[in-house]
Parts: sequence; structure tokens; C-alpha cells
Amino acid sequence: MKLKIKIHTQILIALVAGVAAGLVLQERAVHVKIVGDMFIRLLKMIIIPLITASMVSGVISIGNVRALGRIGLRTFAYYLATTLIAVTIGLVLVNALRPGDGFQMPAADEAVRSIAEHEPPTVTSILNDIVPDNIVNAAAGSKFLSIIFFSLVLGVAISLTGEKARPLADFFNALNAVMLKITGWIMCLAPIGVFALMAYVVGTLGWGVIVHLGRYMATVLLGLTLHACVILPLLLLVFARYSPLRFFRHMFTAVATAFSTASSAATLPVTMDCLEVNAGVSNRVTSFVIPLGATVNMDGTALYEAVAAMFIAQAYAAEMTVGHQLIIMLTATLASIGAAAIPSAGLVTMVIVLHAVRLPAEGIAVIFAVDRILDMFRTAVNVWGDACGAAVIARFEGETFVKG
Ligand code: ASP
Repeated sequence: MKLKIKIHTQILIALVAGVAAGLVLQERAVHVKIVGDMFIRLLKMIIIPLITASMVSGVISIGNVRALGRIGLRTFAYYLATTLIAVTIGLVLVNALRPGDGFQMPAADEAVRSIAEHEPPTVTSILNDIVPDNIVNAAAGSKFLSIIFFSLVLGVAISLTGEKARPLADFFNALNAVMLKITGWIMCLAPIGVFALMAYVVGTLGWGVIVHLGRYMATVLLGLTLHACVILPLLLLVFARYSPLRFFRHMFTAVATAFSTASSAATLPVTMDCLEVNAGVSNRVTSFVIPLGATVNMDGTALYEAVAAMFIAQAYAAEMTVGHQLIIMLTATLASIGAAAIPSAGLVTMVIVLHAVRLPAEGIAVIFAVDRILDMFRTAVNVWGDACGAAVIARFEGETFVKG
């Protein structure tokens, strides 16, 4: 317990010291980037075996297909409901504050044009991503949805095979435990990684642009704050009966890692470790809900996409009717599901939203400059949303929390 508190404090110090170092070093902070990159690489290194082992062992411990269906349905309902709430908060705020009114659109440069031309994922391509035709290729291409689907099938088959498949069940349980062990080691390096990532981001940020886009950023941040500090804690309190403050303390390392890496996927091992070791949520629920959540449940991204699309519309002085806004709501939800859990993925899938309401994809030019900083905040909210979801589902599954 003592060590846990120490790690929290270390990470908090690392965050603050990283910001300070970035301000002092400015562009020279690019030299510490390699340290942050190594930290992210270490986390990514274990994602594929971790997702596979945790999904398979999770499905086996859930026991039967019926219980699996029940958890699956609850997880899906929770994810969809919270994402829709997040989008609604974003839309209400952007309509009330209208940050885009009178905003001067800059010309799109090369980098932005390449994003605008990027083929956004379609419903068909997302469906194709779920069922792999070659699981080795899927793993090599980090197609998490494919890996999750295959692991689900594998877990159910091992369960139904019974005694004969016992060695396989033991194997995946052991692999899961070993991966969490490695996660624990990597987490000891988190303060160094977080420091380097923060120094790099702060040092290389264009501060002038931030001031220019201040109102837009404030709208996104206000929405994210409302969702993370009011809605999700309420759900946690009412449905999971878990003290939000205590739960946040347990999850702090994961949220800080999400913030500094801007990747839910890279944070996944840390999220699982914090939930199981600190927050006392069972491996049975964590190992099913979290890999799925990191891939498809992105409350922060959905909220951000809705605000950003409306901001662009306001900047172009394009009127968005209630019908348009309903389309934005739907497509922002879809785009957040389709977004990969990596930095800037939300910016790319936003092309879907812009296309749907006939706004020019070049509109991304306006918000491109401040994407990284907003990405950090929305990723932190994405991971916090996944974690709260795990606690809620665990309570629905009859779990009680000794640490809650
Ligand atoms: N970076 C986000 C995540 O990993 C996705 C996004 O770009 O919104 O959760």
C-alpha cells in the first residue's frame, strides 16, 4: 500500500516537473522524446499477448455462454449510453457558447490535406475488422477488434471443450498473470516516461495557436470536465456504489498514463493493473470489459468530435439544424467506436462526421494545431470512462468492493 501511494506521488511530481522542464527546454525538449517513446513501446509490446490472455481467461472464468451474453449486453449498453451522454454534453455546450462564431479560417497546409484525404473507416470496414481472415496478420496489424473476437471464440470453445482443454485454460491464465507482472515492472518506469512525454509536448507546443483557439479548447475541456467529474462519478456512485474519489485515487496511474501517452491502447495494461490490484475489481470482469472498452468506448473522443464538427460549422457560418445535429450525434458516436486507440485517431475519424453533414474536411485545418493537447485530455477521459464502466458492470455482476 505504501508503495502505491508513492507511485501516485511520483507520477504527480513527474507531470508537474515535465511541464516545467518543457517550458524551460522549449524545442530542445525534443531530445527527451526518445525516453517517452521507449515507455510507450514497452507498454505496446505487451498489448497483444495481454489482450489475448485476458480475454480468453476472462471468458473462461465467466463460465457459460449465457453469462457471457449477459455481461456483453450490459457492457454494450453502458458504453453506448455513456458515449451518447458525452456527445449530448458537447452539443449543448457548443450551441450555448458558440466558440466558432466569427473565427477566421486559415488555409489548409499539406499535413492537413493528407488527413482530409485519408479514407475514414466505414461501417463495412469496421465490421470487416471484427472478423479476421488471418489472425496472425490481424495481430501483426494491431487490429484489436479482430484479436478480441478471436479470443472470445477461443475462450468459449475452451470452456465448452471442458476437461480436455484444461491445459489451454491453465496456459492462458498463467499468461495473463505473467503479463500483469510485466505491466507492474513497466509501471515502475511510469514517472520517467510521463516526465519525458510531458516535457516534449509542452516544449514543442505552439503557444500562440492555443491562445487563438482558446474558446474552442475551453468548450471541449469544459465538456470533458463535466463528463469526467460529474456524470461518470454519479454513475459510479449510484450504480457501482463506489466512492468516486477513492476510485480515482486507485485509477490515477492509468489516467495519468493515458494523459501523457494520448493512447488508450498503450494505457490498457496499466488500466487493468490499477483496476485489479488497486480498485479490487475482479479479473473476470476487468479482462472482458477493458480490452473492449479501450478499443470501442471513447466518451472523450465522441464529445470532442461533436464539439469540433460544430465549431467548424460555426467558423464556416454553416447553419446546423436539429436534424444535422442528430446526424452529428450519431456519426460522432460511430466515429469514436471506429477510432483506433492511438494518438490523433479521433482527428482522422472526424472526417466521417464532417462528410455526413457536408462540411469540408479541410475544416480540420483549424483544429489541427491543438489536437495533441486535446487528445491528452480526451484520452484520459476515455480511459476513466472504461474504468468506471468496469466498476459498474462488476457491481451488476454481484461484486462488492472491499476497497470502495
Ligand atoms: N487518442 C485517443 C485514444 O487513444 C483516441 C483519439 O484520438 O481520440 O483513446
